[in-house]
Amino acid sequence: MKKIGILGSTGSIGTQTLEIVREQGDIEVCALTAGKNIDLLEKQIREFSPKLACVWSEEDAKKLRLRTKDLSVKIESGMEGLIQAATYKDIETLVTAVVGMLGLRPTVAAIRAKKNIALANKETLVTAGHLIIPLAKENRVSILPVDSEHSAIFQSLNGESENKIDKILLTASGGPFRGMSRLQLAEISPKDALKHPNWSMGKKITIDSATMVNKGLEVMEAKWLFGTELDRIQVVVQPQSVIHSMVQFEDGGIIAQLGAPDMRLPIQYALYYPKRRPMSGQRLDFFALGSITFEKPDMDTFEGLKLAYEAANKGGNMPTVFNAANERAVAKFLAKKISFLEITQIINECMLDCTYIHKPELSDILDTEKEVYERIESRW
Ligand code: NDP
Repeated sequence: MKKIGILGSTGSIGTQTLEIVREQGDIEVCALTAGKNIDLLEKQIREFSPKLACVWSEEDAKKLRLRTKDLSVKIESGMEGLIQAATYKDIETLVTAVVGMLGLRPTVAAIRAKKNIALANKETLVTAGHLIIPLAKENRVSILPVDSEHSAIFQSLNGESENKIDKILLTASGGPFRGMSRLQLAEISPKDALKHPNWSMGKKITIDSATMVNKGLEVMEAKWLFGTELDRIQVVVQPQSVIHSMVQFEDGGIIAQLGAPDMRLPIQYALYYPKRRPMSGQRLDFFALGSITFEKPDMDTFEGLKLAYEAANKGGNMPTVFNAANERAVAKFLAKKISFLEITQIINECMLDCTYIHKPELSDILDTEKEVYERIESRW
């Protein structure tokens, strides 16, 4: 039996991970965590019998303890509970499927406790890749990508360890507003932005896809995961979302991974790597698809990607400023407090104004997050 824990088990990635657990039948779930959705978490506890579960507030934890008093599960809360779940003794692989920088401390703790990481929570690598990657090496744990693009790159690199990457071709759908002008984007509501053409995902990443901030985060994630210089990572818009990404080698050969847009494949690949397992679901039908098309990303209209390259090039704590500003701006957009275009405007202003730290430690990253949040709260 494989033994896993899932941070964020009630979300889009978390529930799809549990679908795989259900379908495969040889994975033991040791720990589960959620934010607020205690109804779903209770159902998951009853079905998968973890030894430890965690919710964000102590108030919800009390409710859940009462509801599960017929079971032997231990219920914790808050950041300490998340860390306990991430480092629970029996876990071999931790699926990090919480959203945002919240995942940083538990991921660091899990690596120190020698857990392999199936990483969906890209914000962790974006803000602290320079600490996480060496820490994983030092503790001899694997970081297995769950993001579909990074899984595609990882799969394309199988058997290529002796060969140098010439270019990573990171594909992007372009989001629901591809081809629109800034004038049109000014009118976009949260409801419009929550409709992604090809993928069904959590709210934050769906908005990030609409602004193309998500692609920017993925560029930074790829830089850390594959040790590639930024100018060797090229974003290619491929609206059908069937090429999940590609790697070009020094001889000009390109290896790509294709498939129907289904997050269960990269999740399952990370859980069973290097083995592939059967999986039910849609198969790519090239005749039905007809054509696959390519475009350059429009970085003038979708400034999120341009700002991400700027943040990544500047380095230090700038990716944290970029990410933290985006997290808070997206929350404000979803709460209808700011417009769609103000998301990138806020990121830009925070990148201009916040204190720059060249080599941030973990505490500097958390301080930067706080500084960004305070700045946004005082101005917007
Ligand atoms: P969701 O919003 O669907 O799920 C987020 C999870 O985090 C939920 O379980 C939520 O709990 C939990 N959570 C939220 N706030 C807290 C908190 N304060 N304390 C503890 N837990 C909390 O997100 P996704 O599954 O879409 O995304 C998760 C991560 O994976 C993100 O980093 C995203 O970028 C990445 N990713 C997602 C993809 C996708 O297809 N969805 C694809 C590739 C990467 P609750 O719901 O109970 O409040």
